[in-house]
Order: sequence, then C-alpha cells, then structure tokens
Amino acid sequence: MLDWNRDPHRRWNPLSREWVLVSPHRTQRPWQGQVEEAPSSSQPDYNPACYLCPGNARAGGVRNPNYASTFVFDNDFAALKPDTPAGDFSHGGLLLAETEPGISRVVCFSPKHNLTIANMEPDDIRLVVDCWVDQFLDLGARDFINYVQIFENRGAMMGASNPHPHGQIWSCKTLPNQVASEQLSQQAWMAERGGCLLCEYVRIERSEGVRLVEENDSFLTVVPFWAVWPFETMILAKRHLTALDELTTAERAALADILKRTTARYDRLFQVPFPYTGGPHQRPTDGAPHREWHMHWHFYPPLLRSATVRKFMTGYELLGTPQRDLTAETAAERLRAV
Ligand SMILES: [Zn+2]
Ligand SMILES: [Zn+2]
Ligand SMILES: [Zn+2]
Repeated sequence: MLDWNRDPHRRWNPLSREWVLVSPHRTQRPWQGQVEEAPSSSQPDYNPACYLCPGNARAGGVRNPNYASTFVFDNDFAALKPDTPAGDFSHGGLLLAETEPGISRVVCFSPKHNLTIANMEPDDIRLVVDCWVDQFLDLGARDFINYVQIFENRGAMMGASNPHPHGQIWSCKTLPNQVASEQLSQQAWMAERGGCLLCEYVRIERSEGVRLVEENDSFLTVVPFWAVWPFETMILAKRHLTALDELTTAERAALADILKRTTARYDRLFQVPFPYTGGPHQRPTDGAPHREWHMHWHFYPPLLRSATVRKFMTGYELLGTPQRDLTAETAAERLRAV
C-alpha cells in the first residue's frame, strides 16, 4: 500500500522544471555528519570595525554617512561593472563567452549593527521594502539593465562576510539562469492554459493548507511542494503582481510583515539566528509587460536538524538529483508549531 509519507518518490518543480527525490523513511537513520560550532549572537548595536556601520570607513577610504534608516552604495568589490565593453566569442560552438555589464549595490537595512529582519520594527522593514522598490525602478530604467536581482545572504554559514543587517542587488544585461528557467515555465503555462502558473499554485496551497506557514491579507508563506532545502520557503503574493513596483501602499506593509514573521519563525526553530539566502524573483526590466511573471520570494536555508547540523548537496545530488528526507508537509508543520 503506497504511503506518500513513507515511500520514496520524486516531486516536480514546475518553475525550474526539475525533479526532487523525497525519501521520508530516512528521517529515522542515525546522524553521523558534521557538527558545526553554533554562531554567537551577542553583538553591540555599533561596531567601530564594521564597514557598514554609520560614519565608518569602507575599503578604499570612502566614509559612510551617518544614515538613520536605509543606506545604498555601489559595491566596492562589484561582481558587475557598468562600463564593461561589449564582446563575445565562440570556439566551435562549444566554448562560448560574452561580456556582462551590470551594477552591484549594497543595501544596509538599518544603522543598527545587531538587528536582523526578524527583530526590526515593521515600519523600519517597510522602509527597506520602499528602498528595494526605488532600486528596482532606478536600476531597471537603464538600457543595459534587463534584470534586477535583490538578495540577502544571512549568516556566516551562507558566506555573509558581516553580520550588519544588509543585502545586495546585482543587476545585469541578461537573465540569471534560474530566472530564465522560471520565465520559460510561466510563459509556457500561460500560453497553454491561459492563466498564471503561480496564481494556480496559490489557489491549491490555500485550499490544501498542509504546506502553509504564514499568511496575511496580501501574502502567504509555504514550504513549496517541491522544496529541496529542509526548511525552504516561498512567499507568494495572493494577487497577480509581476514585480515590486506594482505593490500598493498596503501591500508594501504586508510584505514587510510577512518577511518579519517568516524569518522570526526560522529563528525560533532551532533557537538560533537562522542562516539563509533569500530574495525575490520578478519581472525582467527589458521593457516588455511580462504578464506571465508572478512575483515571489525564495528562502533557501541550509540548516537541517539543529543550530549546528546543516544540509550539504553531495553525492547523488551533485551527480544526479537533489534529495530530501523530511517532507515539505512535515517541514511546514514544524515551522507552524514554533
Ligand atoms: Zn555594522
Ligand atoms: Zn499570478
Ligand atoms: Zn522563483
């Protein structure tokens, strides 16, 4: 007798059009993996050695202003540069390369060194949302910028070099790989069925309820049916919005609210500042309407079963297909319970 909660199966990700292997029976096996030291969480609200704190000097000697809410600057070690000359080559159609112009920026969420989205005031997170909207419009308006990727790497485990609450924006000429895949999937769904893929997904998740983690008037947080990371979540707009610039005033506040509530649940899960990479996927800024795009947020956290035990992508996952033991439904239940 088939039991979806026990038997190995694979699940389809309709956005990336890839499968994930789910092996729920393995959650019983003994753990013999790496144990990492739990990060210490006590930090002062100002750190004289922090290059993001107000008034401090950054690399190259530029000094931050005494900012009071958010602060944006061009990354001193930018991965993308606006003045990159155009160029490409092809060797036998196999070795392909092309230059990629872009702009990389850093967004400080708060002047306070020891805050996180989870413990900032909702009105202050709302200012971060406003800042993201302004940046999306400012960067997206440039001819050579066709996509604006906003993201936050939180925690040393995710490679964040500084605990000061901040994120990054990388904007460039071409679509990033994941965005390109999701765009093709959403375009194909709309062409074949005449509706929006993620509006339909929102409808299913609201009616089933088993993967819901948080909800407010405008957004819901789910552990997606096809999640790869143990406590991966998605925040979905309930109404069809293609990008941040379509948020109403009330929806900007609702986004701030659901970001705070979602990340606060993460922190309560293992009683530790929960590391993650999080950020939105949204409409490209190439000037086309892109009605197929449904704005959403992804959170990819690495922790598996405690503050110190993380998931690695190895073995079968690197050579074959990503795999998880905990089902999305169980992960959602655990996030709902804290
Ligand atoms: Zn700082
Ligand atoms: Zn939609
Ligand atoms: Zn996405």
